[in-house]
Amino acid sequence: MKRIVVLGCGTGGTLVANRLRQRFDRHAARITVVDQDDVHVYQPGLLFVPFGLALAEDIVRPRRRQLHAGIDVAISAIDRVDVDGNVVHLSNGESLDYDVLVVATGAVLVPEETEGLLGTGWLQNVFTFYNLEGAQALGDRLAQFEGGRLVVNVVDMPIKCPVAPLEFCFLADWYFRERGIRDQVDITYATPLDGAFTKPAASHALAGLLEEKGIELVTEFNAGEYDEAARTITSYDGRVVPFDVAVVIPLHGGAPYVGRSEHLGDELNFVPTDNRTLQSQVRPNIFVIGDAANVPASKAGSVTHFEGETVVDNIERFLDGADLDASYDGHANCFIETGFHKALLIDFNYDTEPLPGHFPGPLGVPLMKESRLNHLGKLMFQWFYWHVLLPGRDVPGLGSAMPHAGKKQGART
Ligand SMILES: Cc1cc2nc3c(=O)[nH]c(=O)nc-3n(C[C@H](O)[C@H](O)[C@H](O)COP(=O)(O)OP(=O)(O)OC[C@H]3O[C@@H](n4cnc5c(N)ncnc54)[C@H](O)[C@@H]3O)c2cc1C
Repeated sequence: MKRIVVLGCGTGGTLVANRLRQRFDRHAARITVVDQDDVHVYQPGLLFVPFGLALAEDIVRPRRRQLHAGIDVAISAIDRVDVDGNVVHLSNGESLDYDVLVVATGAVLVPEETEGLLGTGWLQNVFTFYNLEGAQALGDRLAQFEGGRLVVNVVDMPIKCPVAPLEFCFLADWYFRERGIRDQVDITYATPLDGAFTKPAASHALAGLLEEKGIELVTEFNAGEYDEAARTITSYDGRVVPFDVAVVIPLHGGAPYVGRSEHLGDELNFVPTDNRTLQSQVRPNIFVIGDAANVPASKAGSVTHFEGETVVDNIERFLDGADLDASYDGHANCFIETGFHKALLIDFNYDTEPLPGHFPGPLGVPLMKESRLNHLGKLMFQWFYWHVLLPGRDVPGLGSAMPHAGKKQGART
């Protein structure tokens, strides 16, 4: 019997373990999933918490309940992996031997890497909505906010869901309009990118939306220091952005145990991974899914979902001694909330920029265009996440690869 150990029981770990259980019967493989706690947060829901549009209990479920029968669970922090000995050492003193390892431990926030960020203003006037504690504290602060400068600042890339900070800006504009105080709030988006987003075509459209909503865009802003007494953020090139409330997306890195595991990670603790097969470049029996990989795709749940099929196929091929399938194309798909019950959708992969048209085909929902249908799609996604994506169900007509039908190739946006 083969021993498959999955590190992390978030989006990628859960869906890959469930898909593996469907693929291999219990005599063929023992599947063990490791996580440090039993609290699965639906992270896209964190965006809505500061605006009172979602509560913690709406977006949190036990991890174990998302797993199919016949999957073993170990609740413990991972201490380190011995990639030569094929063994995972847990912080509780136990160890797990494996034939195949799947790394699905995502990305962590490292706010301590930015000078002054974790000072006395942290969770008073400086917040992040990228975890539950921060999103809830920010909600309390926004409810008391009567006017002033609200700055949304991405410290550096890569981050999870690169559109989420923009969505936060759009929702903040809507939220303050609903409260009748929008003319008393200056909203600024300070990003290290040279535009609103990583992909030029979408960047142009999103910068237009920021402008339309009166949100100032500050580009190539690499935050070097937070001064919470002065309430300023200073970039490495000396520019200063003042704030009354700052909403920060801190630096991200891979899980710290990756750094403690000799040969497993790069300098940011992400795992070097083949872009197309999702086999690690560390050892052939290690595969990677989701935010933990260093592939040039977005760190997004949609990417993690689309990677699942390739990872499971390739684990089976690896165990059979067959050639791996290089079919993952970098497919990413993001609904972008723009406020006022509207959203727009972008769909792209390693080779194709977001294009206008419709998804997943000519009769689908509009791409690169605000609509109420897309907003409903964003809300529906939470149901899809718990009931289709995590259980590892296939959706007829919606495969992993980016669909070309419905897209207006060569169209200008
Ligand atoms: C605010 C926000 C909004 C987002 N919105 C969207 C969106 O609209 N659409 C979208 O597609 N994506 C979105 N995302 C991104 C999406 O949630 C992630 O990309 C996705 O969850 C990645 O899955 P993963 O399995 O790689 O990591 P995770 O789901 O984060 O799982 C990693 C798991 O590893 C565990 N772990 C880590 N280290 C250890 C350790 N040492 N020991 C034991 N366990 C460990 C963690 O506890 C965790 O359960 C958003 C993210 C955020 C923060």
